[in-house]
Amino acid sequence: MTGISKVADLLAAENEEYVQQATRCVSTLMPAIARAYRQTIGEESPRATMDVRVGVSDSDLPEGKVGSFQLPNGECDYGVLTVRPGSFNGEKVHYWWVIAHELIHAFLGKSSESHGAQFGVMADALGMPEQHRK
Ligand SMILES: [Zn+2]
Repeated sequence: MTGISKVADLLAAENEEYVQQATRCVSTLMPAIARAYRQTIGEESPRATMDVRVGVSDSDLPEGKVGSFQLPNGECDYGVLTVRPGSFNGEKVHYWWVIAHELIHAFLGKSSESHGAQFGVMADALGMPEQHRK
């Protein structure tokens, strides 16, 4: 087992209920993100059909980050989306926006770590509230 898939399996063992919620959220959001990408960039995204696995954990995220996305790479043929367990408390839609935010980064690719113009247009297309765009 390679490094990253081992991490994904470890993460999946934690917070199983949240992982299921987040996985359903990813399935629902993927077509919407693909549509927003098409509207923004003018072509289909090669990421639209990627397999995404979800981890819900604090241990894998740097201080101050609520989510992250590891794109598929030579070691691992699926993307790994990580969300903090705290995103599932309080306001019900909060984790949806955290996941949508990370999926926009994933679709735009590694070069778009910042929240530039294309990020903003896709966020607009999804109706993402301002506080979830940073
Ligand atoms: Zn971001």
